[in-house]
Amino acid sequence: MILIRYGEIALKSPRIRLEWEKQLIRNIKSILELNNISYKNIKFLPTRGRIFLDIKLTSNICSLLKKVSGIISFSEVLEASNEINSISKVTLKLADQILENGDTFALKVRRTGTHNYSSIDIARIVGKNVLTTFSDRNISVNLSSPKRTIYIEIRDKNSYIFHNKISGMGGLPIGTQGKVIALISGGIDSPVAAWMMMKRGCYIRPIYFDNYPYLSKKNIDKVINLIKKLRTFDPRKKFYFYIIPHGPNLELFLKNAPKNYTCLLCKRMLYRIAEVITKKEKAKAIVTGENLGQVASQTIDNLYILNDSIKIPVFRPLIGLDKEEIIDIAKKIGTFKISTEFIDSCTAVPKFPITKGDINKVIKFESDINIDNLVKNAINNMKKVYI
Ligand code: ATP
Ligand code: MG
Repeated sequence: MILIRYGEIALKSPRIRLEWEKQLIRNIKSILELNNISYKNIKFLPTRGRIFLDIKLTSNICSLLKKVSGIISFSEVLEASNEINSISKVTLKLADQILENGDTFALKVRRTGTHNYSSIDIARIVGKNVLTTFSDRNISVNLSSPKRTIYIEIRDKNSYIFHNKISGMGGLPIGTQGKVIALISGGIDSPVAAWMMMKRGCYIRPIYFDNYPYLSKKNIDKVINLIKKLRTFDPRKKFYFYIIPHGPNLELFLKNAPKNYTCLLCKRMLYRIAEVITKKEKAKAIVTGENLGQVASQTIDNLYILNDSIKIPVFRPLIGLDKEEIIDIAKKIGTFKISTEFIDSCTAVPKFPITKGDINKVIKFESDINIDNLVKNAINNMKKVYI
C-alpha cells in the first residue's frame, strides 16, 4: 500500500476538511485513470490525515503522485495489526529487504490510540528482534545518525511500517479554490505562475494571445507544449484553452499611439479580454507571470496602469521572486526546456518602452480607438483547443 500524507488540510474545520479530503481522493483517482493505471482500493482514515492507496509504488506511480497538489509526502508501507508479534514480523520483513552488511539503523515509533504498550516498548522489543535476526549482517543501532530508519506508525488497530518518505508537491487539492484564467505567453514565467495557482488549489483555464504577424505562428506550438505540461498536474478529464487573435489590436495601437506606449496598451487589452473570458468561464481572477521590475511594463507605475483596465483580481505569484528562483521552479515542473527551446520576440515591442506611464495619456490614446469593439472581435474570433 501507499500511505499518502496531506498536512495542511488536516488543520481545517471538519466540514471543509471532509470536502477537501474527498476532492483530494477524486484528484488522485482521476490522475491515475487519465494515465490508465488501475488500483485496488483507495480510502482515507477520517480524522487521521492519511490516505491509503492499494497499489505498488513504481517509479511511474511515484512521478504521478508528485503531480497531485495537496499531497505533502507519501511512502510505500507494509501493514500489520497492532499486536507486537505482528509488528515485529512485518518489521523484520522490511529490515531484511533494506539492511545490508555493516549498516546502522534506528526504529522510529509513533502511536495514536490506546494500547497496552508504549512506543518505547515497541522500539526496544522490535529493535532487539532485528538485531538478533540479522546478527550475521553485522548491523548496529544508531539513534542519532542511522544509515537506515524504519518508521513504525501504530494507529488504533493497525500499524504501518516503512522506511522511505517521498516529498509531494504540497499545496491544496486542485478544485478547492475555484478557477483562474491563466495568461500563458510562451516565456519562462507565465507557466510557472499558472502552476503556482494550481498548486494552491485552483483550476486554470489557459489563454494565449496570438500576436501574429508581430510574432511567429510557431510560438503557438510552444505554448501548446507548455499547456500540455501544465495539464499533467490537472485531474480534469477534459482540458482546453483559448487562442485569441491579438495582431489586429497591436496594429491599431502602433498606428494610433506613441510607440513607447505600445506594451501598456497591449497588456491592458490582454487584461480586458481575459476579464470577459473570466465571466464566460465562471472564473474570478486572472494570473500572469509578471514580476516586479523585470521588464518595462512590470514597474509598479505600469502595473498600476494595467490593473486600472479591469475590475477583477490579478494574481502575480512571481512578483517577489528572482529570475533564478523562477527558473528553478520551471525546471522542477518541466516547463523550462520547452520555454527556452526557441525564443521569438514580439516585433511590436519598441526600443524604449515607457517605464513610468501616465494613466491620463493612456486613457486619451484609448479614447481614439473603439476598445469595446476590439474586445468583441477578439472574443468572437477566439479558438477553443482541447488538450
Ligand atoms: P513570460 O516570461 O511569462 O513570457 P514576459 O517576461 O515576457 O512574460 P511580458 O511580455 O511583459 O513578460 O508579459 C507579462 C505577462 O503577461 C506574462 O507573464 C503573461 O502572463 C502575460 N502575457 C504576455 N503576453 C501574452 C500572450 N501573448 N498571451 C498570453 N499571455 C501573455
Ligand atoms: Mg517575465
